[in-house]
Amino acid sequence: MKIWFLTGSQGLYGEDTLNQVAEQSQRIAEQLPLAVEWKPVLTDAAAIRRVMLEANADDSCAGVIAWMHTFSPAKMWIAGLDALRKPLLHLHTQANVELPWSSIDMDFMNLNQAAHGDREFGHIQTRLGVPRKTVAGHVSDPAVGERILTWERAAKGLAEVRTLKLARFGDNMRDVAVTEGDKVEAQLRFGVSVNTYGVNDLVEVVDAASEADVTALVKEYAEQYTVAPELLGERNESLRYAARIELGLRGFLEAGGFKAFTTNFEDLGGLRQLPGLAVQRLMADGYGFGGEGDWKTSVLLRTLKAMAPGGTSFMEDYTYHLTPGQELILGAHMLEVCPSIAAGTPSCEIHPLGIGGREDPVRLVFDAEPGPGIVVGLADMGDRFRLVANEIDIVSPPEPLPKLPVARAVWRPHPNLRTSTESWLTAGAPHHTVLSQVVGRDELTDFADMLGVELVVIDAETTTERFAKELRWNQAYYRLAQGF
Ligand code: MN
Repeated sequence: MKIWFLTGSQGLYGEDTLNQVAEQSQRIAEQLPLAVEWKPVLTDAAAIRRVMLEANADDSCAGVIAWMHTFSPAKMWIAGLDALRKPLLHLHTQANVELPWSSIDMDFMNLNQAAHGDREFGHIQTRLGVPRKTVAGHVSDPAVGERILTWERAAKGLAEVRTLKLARFGDNMRDVAVTEGDKVEAQLRFGVSVNTYGVNDLVEVVDAASEADVTALVKEYAEQYTVAPELLGERNESLRYAARIELGLRGFLEAGGFKAFTTNFEDLGGLRQLPGLAVQRLMADGYGFGGEGDWKTSVLLRTLKAMAPGGTSFMEDYTYHLTPGQELILGAHMLEVCPSIAAGTPSCEIHPLGIGGREDPVRLVFDAEPGPGIVVGLADMGDRFRLVANEIDIVSPPEPLPKLPVARAVWRPHPNLRTSTESWLTAGAPHHTVLSQVVGRDELTDFADMLGVELVVIDAETTTERFAKELRWNQAYYRLAQGF
């Protein structure tokens, strides 16, 4: 994916000045921390509209950065901005860092006037209601670069979800509310296409996997993980069947162009194990996943995976440590936690599972790497979607968990467990989430702004009173913003 770099100016300056503008703009583009496709300086409405239509039509263009080097009268930008359907970043910068106090003259003043050229541009963007991120400062400032990179990661996530295809094996877990949602609205708002396939279509390709491929994959498991001796000995057939599930599932997803999927333990058809190891490894390769038919969380997981590699998993708030002052959340799932968040080498094990009514499933067991992170959930509020995030600190479990046969993460939510959970529950946010160590609130904020979807963040500054008010204000705003 590429980002385009646009420079605004006007014809009044004459050829010499416009050549200087172009030269300086290229120098600014080269100083950016990302490779951009630099476009010739724009000086009239027809060229501006044309370049925006080209950005829309180019699938490899993930977004557009615009900078008004000089004064670019903004009525020239109306048609172009109105047509633009790609994410926009307004870069408010200038060619020089320091003013040349002793030599500055009117030629310099006329050449370097982003200070008011960008104000003209900001005005028309706001008047048109154009969603964008505004970043101010010289591009040589690392903080400016980081804010642009954050936006680029969000734009990559958006580009992914715009064309994402998700396969559901079975429907929703019976009677569960929060994992349900409006798939037509999701396609309209996000772009993702969500469709269900009979689980026995999957069983067919699982059963068809070749013995040679199974043997090769089992060898790979032994190289990558600490495999329990019983899985290499008397229970080797269970490990081979787990490998067979991975081969079938991966083949099915690749053949259909799916980058996200869901399973449902209530609908396993002819599958002999609930897919555990296979799901974990597919998540590690960047696939989105949600348990119990939860396509919304699967979409969100794939989107965050597209923003940044590694360190992001499907997660579920499972149980609490409520000792006053030391409160923690223990997150896990029946089996399906992504090893990209693991501290150390995962252990490949087999244990009974009291749910699903099938053979004992193989899974990877590990603790999550300690450090800062975020959990984010996507809820369907009936008339629109809401993203809710909570900043967290992942910690090492205070004690070993020798009897717990699943991968897990233990974390301390900001600002504390009481405020975090009261706010989360007030927002109506889900029990399934995406936990990330590599994507943070800034990417999520840019992503939500690009989509016009609500995002509320529970962080170190949150109070339940203010958070409840924010939800009420947002409820009014998003209803109004949708129009009638
Ligand atoms: Mn679940």
